[in-house]
Amino acid sequence: MDPRSLAARAKALALEAGFDLAGIAAAEAPPELGFFAEWIARGYAGEMAYLTSQAAHRRDLRCAFPWARSVLSVGLQYDTPHPYSTEAPAEAGWIARYAWGDDYHDVMRTRLERLAGRLEAEAGPFRWRAYVDTGPVVERAYAAAAGLGAWGKNSCLLHPEHGSWFFIGELVTDLELAADAPRPDMCGSCTACLDACPTGALPAPYVLDATRCISYLTIELKGPIAESSREGVGRQVFGCDICQDVCPWNRRRRYRAEPAFEPRAGLLGPDLEELARLDEDGFRARFRGSAVKRAKRRGLLRNVAVALGNSGDAAHRPVLERLAEDADPLVQEHARWALRRLAPEKETAPEAE
Ligand code: SF4
Ligand code: SF4
Repeated sequence: MDPRSLAARAKALALEAGFDLAGIAAAEAPPELGFFAEWIARGYAGEMAYLTSQAAHRRDLRCAFPWARSVLSVGLQYDTPHPYSTEAPAEAGWIARYAWGDDYHDVMRTRLERLAGRLEAEAGPFRWRAYVDTGPVVERAYAAAAGLGAWGKNSCLLHPEHGSWFFIGELVTDLELAADAPRPDMCGSCTACLDACPTGALPAPYVLDATRCISYLTIELKGPIAESSREGVGRQVFGCDICQDVCPWNRRRRYRAEPAFEPRAGLLGPDLEELARLDEDGFRARFRGSAVKRAKRRGLLRNVAVALGNSGDAAHRPVLERLAEDADPLVQEHARWALRRLAPEKETAPEAE
């Protein structure tokens, strides 16, 4: 097959394998990756060693795969008909929408492998590697180059039909596939995400300072959350959806009725006190096969303590007092901070007339 016919066939097979979007980019470094080194040099990647340690490989995937010629990017919509964080009861915690159902890494990888198998059945054997958020590939840059979505000012990819609620995966191949064109800008003069970000993690359009982003603070950061950042974390206990919830491209909701992404019991607007009571066994049982297990119990309970402290509800003091005695010093310290934050205002004596 010629590169154009093969590309069309590969994209059709991607949709048959259960993806919603498919596009192709040449396996050369997309222009955005030129900014990657500067982004890391500014410290915006924080402690994400998996980004910084392989910076050269991430700038150009041909460093890792000299045989690569094309990157087939796929998207899988994960929105479900449930409220946005901006609409949900304020007293509950919040877990990012992408983490409500089954771990998307497993769902995406299974479909990518199915896709590769079907393509090999038609095109004959070829070299390939599948990536979902791992390995030395900066998925979004290749997906943007393949026209899967346009870069949003919140650094997500935007698609006219699916908004930004889609996972991205990649099949790096040695097949010669005709490349697609990137999409034109979709943000225009909108600044809704920059205005809504509670921690100033979007210092300029299209620039994410991950070290200030709640997703980083509640998932990637393994140690203490800086006290100056805790108030901004609000009630988010795993990730943050705010800059996507306010995006006008996510107003027209499309659901794929994908059972794997429906919220597991207790993950949509979770009860903070219930999370605070999880021991190691309870955490493992609750989050088996879920992306939330990435935070580990100590990370999740650190975040829960911060959210309880931000609740303004002194009724949470007893559970925080228990957390302040937790075996893990990280949890203890955040619980003590939350208790100070919930401390009743000291009565001040009226001034003498
Ligand atoms: S995910 Fe939350 S903290 Fe991060 S940039 Fe978006 S609104 Fe800001
Ligand atoms: S909220 Fe507005 S500026 Fe931000 S990504 Fe969406 S369209 Fe772009």
